[in-house]
Amino acid sequence: MAGPEKKLERSKSGLRMIPVSEADTSPFCLPEPPWVPDGECKQCQNCRGKFDFFKRRKHHCRRCGRCFCNDCCQEKVNLPRMQFLDPVRHCQVCTEVSRKEEEFFDKHLKSLQNGGYFSVCDSDIGPDDASMFFTKLSPNHRHLLFEGDSDKHEPILIEKIETLQILPSGKDDEGNTIAGGIAIKYKDTTGGINVIKMMVDSGGNRKPGQIWIASMQKAFKMLYDARAK
Ligand SMILES: [Zn+2]
Ligand SMILES: [Zn+2]
Repeated sequence: MAGPEKKLERSKSGLRMIPVSEADTSPFCLPEPPWVPDGECKQCQNCRGKFDFFKRRKHHCRRCGRCFCNDCCQEKVNLPRMQFLDPVRHCQVCTEVSRKEEEFFDKHLKSLQNGGYFSVCDSDIGPDDASMFFTKLSPNHRHLLFEGDSDKHEPILIEKIETLQILPSGKDDEGNTIAGGIAIKYKDTTGGINVIKMMVDSGGNRKPGQIWIASMQKAFKMLYDARAK
């Protein structure tokens, strides 16, 4: 499925590919940080080397906005959370964070968008009235969508998810909990609190559903970490 319409925009840090409509901004995106003003940094914020126009020049980390010498800020890394088209300059601390996030964008985000089959019920109804839905993340990453043959379920706004709980279904050979499903507590469009239970389709291959649940946990953690800042 095609994503939202996007445009190229030039910022002080490089070219960014951003949605034409602000309403399509991914909840996984972060704003660009303000840069530490040139006048306020006399030395590198990592190695403390004094800046000198000829020998040691200033560079800003595109992720944290702090000021470093070239040696401490020379890595060019992909930064999909700020929607840069090309890899951009990172300090050492931020390099590690962005490298870890690359896996989320390359793997987990795709798994969420590819979707999976789940038996879904609202917690106040109970498993007897569960319906089968194909559940996936919308192209702009903002909603969980539920596609059913007969039943309907309202989309869940990703930013309105309050808790995720893994529903175990036994343990594997190594004693790790096997995810049988997931319970999602969220605020609906009227502001009411709902809980839905999504169980992995037990009739078929359980692996895609379990991978989807693991990716959902990663997504929730990323959003939570961003909120906590
Ligand atoms: Zn330095
Ligand atoms: Zn940084």
